[in-house]
Amino acid sequence: MSVVTRFPPSPTGFMHIGTARTALFNWIYARKHGGKMLFRIEDTDRKRHNEEAVDNLIKGLEWLGLDWDGNIVSQHEQRMRHAQVAKELLESGKAYYCYCTPEELEDMREKARSEGKTTFYDRRWRDADPSTAPRDASPVIRIKAPLSGATTVQDQVQGDVTVNNEQLDDFIILRSDGSPTYMLSVVVDDHDMGVTHVIRGDDHLNNTFRQNIIYDAMNWQKPTYAHLPLILGPDGAKMSKRHGAASVEEYRDMGYLPAALRNYLLRLGWSHGDDEIISDEQARQWFDLTGCNKAAARFDFDKLESLNAHYIKETQADELIERALPFYKQRHSIEPDTKALAMIKQGIAELQSRATTLLQFVDESVFYAKTVPFPYDEKASALLNADATPVLLALQKELQAADQIDDQSVKAICKAVADQEAGGKMGKVGMPLRAAITGTTVSPSIFEACAILGKDECCMRLQAAIEHIENNGTIKQAG
Ligand code: GLU
Repeated sequence: MSVVTRFPPSPTGFMHIGTARTALFNWIYARKHGGKMLFRIEDTDRKRHNEEAVDNLIKGLEWLGLDWDGNIVSQHEQRMRHAQVAKELLESGKAYYCYCTPEELEDMREKARSEGKTTFYDRRWRDADPSTAPRDASPVIRIKAPLSGATTVQDQVQGDVTVNNEQLDDFIILRSDGSPTYMLSVVVDDHDMGVTHVIRGDDHLNNTFRQNIIYDAMNWQKPTYAHLPLILGPDGAKMSKRHGAASVEEYRDMGYLPAALRNYLLRLGWSHGDDEIISDEQARQWFDLTGCNKAAARFDFDKLESLNAHYIKETQADELIERALPFYKQRHSIEPDTKALAMIKQGIAELQSRATTLLQFVDESVFYAKTVPFPYDEKASALLNADATPVLLALQKELQAADQIDDQSVKAICKAVADQEAGGKMGKVGMPLRAAITGTTVSPSIFEACAILGKDECCMRLQAAIEHIENNGTIKQAG
C-alpha cells in the first residue's frame, strides 16, 4: 500500500509554526515512503474564509520548501458529497434526524448541568417514531455513537489511547441547512482522497474517536494515526504571537532560512540520537513516526539561530544572495546593483562565517552597495571626529599611492599609518577606517572590505568622511 498523507489547514490567517511542523512531518513521511502528500484547504467555514489566507498557506509551504502532490482540494467544493454520505448513513440506520430546537437543547443542557450530568444531547430522537416528527421542521442529522464499551486508537506517537464510549455523543454530521460539519467532511475527504496516514496535532486526538465512529458506520478502512504534541513557547505556554513569532512568515522576515527551520522543527518533535544537524536526505532516511516525542516541546530560539548560522554557511552564494535581496531594500532602502552584488559575492565567505540570520548578513554587507555621500550611524559618527582626520588623510594618501590593493597590502598600509599617526595602535586606524568605509562599526574584516571595494572607491569614501568631519566643525584648529 502506498503511503498517502495530507496537509489540511484551515485558512484562518497566516501559517502557524505548529501547522508548518505538521506539514513537514507529513511531507517527510510521504517522501520517505515514496508516497504522496496531498494538500486540502479546510474551507467549510465560509464566513471566515478569505483568499488571502489560502494564499498565505500556499506561499508558506512553498517558502518552507515543501511540495505537494496533485491539485489543491477545496473541502467546501466537496460539500455535496459530504451531504450524500450523511444521507447514506441515515438510510443504513447509522444516523438519524434530530428535530430538537435550540431552545430544547439549551433546556436539556441546563437540566443536565443542574443534575451534575454531562451536557451531551440526550439522544431523544435516536429511536423516536419518525411519525412524531414536527412538520415543517428542518432537522439535523446525528450519527449514532456506540452506547457502551470502549474505543482504542492505536496512535503511532501516543501509543494506545482508550476512551469509554460513554464519553462519545451523537454529534451532528449534517446541519439543518444541509451543510456538513467539520467532523464529517474530514472523514469523507480523507477516505475519498485515499489518505493512509493522518499525522496532525494532538489537539485533534479527541476528534479521532468521533471520526472513527463515521469510519465504522461507513465500513471504511481507518487511516493510521500519529498525533504530535503541541509546540510551546520558551515559557511553556502555547506558542503564540507574544513569544516573538508564531507564523512562518515571521520567521522568514526575521531572516531564517527554510532549511534551518525545517531542521529545527524536525528536531523539536523527533530525534535521531544526538544528531542536531539533519539534512533533508538524512531526515528521509531516518524519520520514523514512532521516534516522535510524546511530550510537548518548548521552542528554543538560540538553537534555531545556531542552526540558521550553520545553513547560512552551507548555502550556495547565489541562493543566499537571492534570499537576502529583499532585505536590502526593506531595511536600508538600497537595491544593490550588479557591481555591488558581485562584491558581496566576492566577500561572501567572511559574511557567511559571521551571520546568524539573513538580516545580519544584509546589515553587514550593505556597505558594498552604498554610494557616497552616505549617512554614518551613531557609533561610526562618534569615531569620525577631529582626531581621526590625520589618520584618514594618511590612509587616503597611502591608498592613492598604491598600485593595486589586496587584504595584505591594506593591512600593511594600516600598519604604516598606525605607526606614523597613532603610536602603532592598529585600532586607532582600523576603527575610523571602518566607520568611513562602511558607515557603521560592525563589518567583516576591513582589510578585505577595502580590497574588494577597490582603491578608488575607498579613497572616495575616505574623502567623504573627511568632509563629514569638516562639516561638523570638529576638525582641529591649526596651531
Ligand atoms: N483543519 C484542521 C486544522 O487546521 C486539521 C484537521 C486535521 O488534520 O484533521 O487544525
